[in-house]
Amino acid sequence: MFGLNKKQLSEDKQGTALKLKENGNQRKLYLESYGCQMNFSDSEIVASVLEKNGFDTTPNIDDADLVLINTCSIRDKAEQKIRNRLKAFHSIKKQKPQLTIGILGCMAERLKSKFLEEEKLVDLVVGPDSYRDLPNLIKQVDDGRKAVNVILSKEETYADISPVRLGGNGITSFVSIMRGCDNMCTFCVVPFTRGRERSRNPKSIISEVKKLVENNYKEVTLLGQNVDSYLWCGGGLKKEFNNLSKEEQGKSVNFAQLLDLVASNCPKIRIRFSTSHPKDMTDDVLHTMTKHQNICKYIHLPVQSGSSRILNLMNRGYSREWYLNRINSIRKIIPNCGISMDIITGFCTESKKDHKETLSLMEKVKYNFGYMFKYSERPNTLAQRKLKDNVSDKIKSKRLTEIINLQQSHSFERNQQEIGEVHNVLIEGVSKKSKNKLFGRNTQNTVVVFPKETYKPGDYVNVLVESCTTATLIGTTI
Ligand code: SAM
Ligand code: SF4
Repeated sequence: MFGLNKKQLSEDKQGTALKLKENGNQRKLYLESYGCQMNFSDSEIVASVLEKNGFDTTPNIDDADLVLINTCSIRDKAEQKIRNRLKAFHSIKKQKPQLTIGILGCMAERLKSKFLEEEKLVDLVVGPDSYRDLPNLIKQVDDGRKAVNVILSKEETYADISPVRLGGNGITSFVSIMRGCDNMCTFCVVPFTRGRERSRNPKSIISEVKKLVENNYKEVTLLGQNVDSYLWCGGGLKKEFNNLSKEEQGKSVNFAQLLDLVASNCPKIRIRFSTSHPKDMTDDVLHTMTKHQNICKYIHLPVQSGSSRILNLMNRGYSREWYLNRINSIRKIIPNCGISMDIITGFCTESKKDHKETLSLMEKVKYNFGYMFKYSERPNTLAQRKLKDNVSDKIKSKRLTEIINLQQSHSFERNQQEIGEVHNVLIEGVSKKSKNKLFGRNTQNTVVVFPKETYKPGDYVNVLVESCTTATLIGTTI
């Protein structure tokens, strides 16, 4: 993976252990998380469930009674990294046999009891819909048995569980609005590991965002695999919507309506959302974004490929033309909108011509930034079963480099256009490169760096942009 803006997949957060305030609990939990923002958000739910059941967190594995690792299956590399961590945990357990080791998340769901039977690396295997069951499962392990719960749910959204939030910067936060995915993109493991799509009650979403405002948070990102598909109609699976009565359907809440509700009920917090899906993103969502000053003017709109033939093989549900039409709508309705993408290079049968179409689509859109990946075949996905992973690794790497280079030149060009402009920035922290500088993000989600003066994280400042790099705007406050 190569990302030109690291927030969304939080590369720097990968593998960090949660450290929350002590509650005087006897047992100690060491919880390490990998993967997408949804996983980090789930870890906060896990910590909340376990805090109420006798566990405080520790960032020090040697102090732990329970080691949990929240895992990602999206690419083979992600799984390899986790296997190495499990081996390291296992060798600690050899010295400390009473230590319980558990695997959570997508890899737990994908490999299920294989972890217990074949690899014998863990005591506990828990899928993404079973975190409420953790106290019972831990009890089983305490009683000398191994424990597994990988049942995927039709209803679970953890709506009533208030996540423990002290792992972050106290300024930006994440709230899940839905779980699972019904899309079946042929390359993707998510529908198998996270189950069918279900949306969360808007009332519980709004009350969680209100709580964030009370706790002085300044920004929230609403999370889902495909937020544009959000549809609340009383609970249960999205695919059952058509079986509801006309009256029940009439009372449903879609994503544009949810955004409107959150923005008007919580005017003091800045709102982002991720991920948007080109096949489902409506103009209504775009109009709602323009209606509210507190909704950030930024859309992450993964394209995956610029070739309609490849998009069809990927089962993405849109063509190149459809995607470009969605971009035109964004530019027309929200002229200053920041746009980013995901691209997979070297998908099954991708030819030179297909690759060129991806480059030409990038030229047309000129994204602000992007996340770019080499295709990694995942077991049991439709692509693995029906298509040939026949682009060599050498060609995948060559094409990825071309895509990255092009994106870097576009990011630089976009950033250069901002020189001389003033940007309103929410300050997130001290710049990594200099302790005399602060950094934050503008509405388009671009990082802005400026001298510290007397400002502090959580403040809004206006910054006059004076120079830039590919990833950062640099300026002074005015
Ligand atoms: N739901 C989001 C969507 O549809 O855009 C994306 C979810 S996925 C966690 C994030 C990104 O990982 C995808 O947009 C895709 O670019 C990439 N990805 C997913 N499966 C992949 C695979 N098998 N190989 C390489 N990249 C993959
Ligand atoms: Fe995976 Fe496609 Fe669902 Fe995104 S929309 S999670 S890529 S299946």
